[in-house]
Amino acid sequence: MINVFQPTLGDEELAAVKEVFATSWVGKGKRTAAFEQAFARHLGVGDDHVMSVNSCTEATFLAMQLLGVGPGTDVVVSTVGFVSEGNAVAAQGARPVFCDVDPATLNPTVDDVAAALTPKTKAVLLLHYAGYPGDVVEIAELCRERGVHLVEDSACSVASRVDGQACGTIGDIGVWSFDFGKVVVAGDGAILHARDPELVERGRKLAYLGLEQTSGYSQANQTNTRWWEYEISSFSRRSVMNDIQAAIGTVQLGRLQEFLDRRRRIVAYYDAELADLAEVRTPPPLPSGHETSYYMYWVQMDAGIRDEVAQDLYERGIYTTLRYPPLHRVKAYGFDGRLPAAEEAAERTLCLPLHNGLSDADVEATVTAFREAVRARSVVAGTHR
Ligand SMILES: *Cc1c(COP(=O)(O)O)cnc(C)c1O
Repeated sequence: MINVFQPTLGDEELAAVKEVFATSWVGKGKRTAAFEQAFARHLGVGDDHVMSVNSCTEATFLAMQLLGVGPGTDVVVSTVGFVSEGNAVAAQGARPVFCDVDPATLNPTVDDVAAALTPKTKAVLLLHYAGYPGDVVEIAELCRERGVHLVEDSACSVASRVDGQACGTIGDIGVWSFDFGKVVVAGDGAILHARDPELVERGRKLAYLGLEQTSGYSQANQTNTRWWEYEISSFSRRSVMNDIQAAIGTVQLGRLQEFLDRRRRIVAYYDAELADLAEVRTPPPLPSGHETSYYMYWVQMDAGIRDEVAQDLYERGIYTTLRYPPLHRVKAYGFDGRLPAAEEAAERTLCLPLHNGLSDADVEATVTAFREAVRARSVVAGTHR
């Protein structure tokens, strides 16, 4: 089976985990701090702007809490997003207001976001589809003008930049995921970046049960002779990353350039090999100054053949999928309305396998099978041009 997403984990990661075992400290400790610092350097920001969390979902929940999203407020969310985003908004008692997207890039334009703003909008929650930055700079400007917070779900954009600035650091808060399927994998884990370091300070307490002081050996006798007692500022959860995850993540972050180089070559191959296929639209070129993370490769075709093409590929051992089916159609969010561009794109789009572990033979086999499936299904559907 040729997988659509897959981590590349090897001896280096295993050696790093072994080292953690040898210290007999597997909780949040020195390695977690080192991972946070390495990620801050990667972003080009100071250490006090980042904190780690156990998942990007949790980081998005924290972001909503830190920015005061709650009952009576609206949050604009790109409908081409992950359920973690809709849940983070709805769980605060706020209303997710979904916005449409550009059907080719699957990112909302600045006009799409502007059209969804209401007098109650507290924040905009934006995803960089497949790692493409999209209109993030223009959307950040719009948010500043309207006094609305911008949160970037950077789960797809670990290495994406606009004119050198890292995606995720353009808005007020950015969140990254290192779960099993992302470009950089830590098993699980996430980073939250905030432009305002005070938010990170509050976030650290929220991520550790709302405790005002950290207990433990290093604090003993320094702040309180009874260091085992609790002082709680909020009824929060425990959502920290640990040293096992951080050790894996640190090695993976060091390999990021190698991963990106491999992904860029695969994407260039897909682009070149599919360019002449009249039935298929490949991703639009990146605007100048934009860098992507090559997280996903998506193609668009006639809605009448998409499902069959996916089925044909599956039968030939090639797994494809759609990221992300529109959130505004998830009943639980209670959104009432149509977002026609996203709805149409959801019928036409398919994500082809893209990960560091694909061999040249895998990529060639995918292209061959995909071309054959598209041609065969187009003839049957009468869409062959
Ligand atoms: C993977 C993903 C998430 C969730 O990340 P977790 O770390 O698994 O919670 C959120 N948003 C997007 C766009 C993702 O791809």
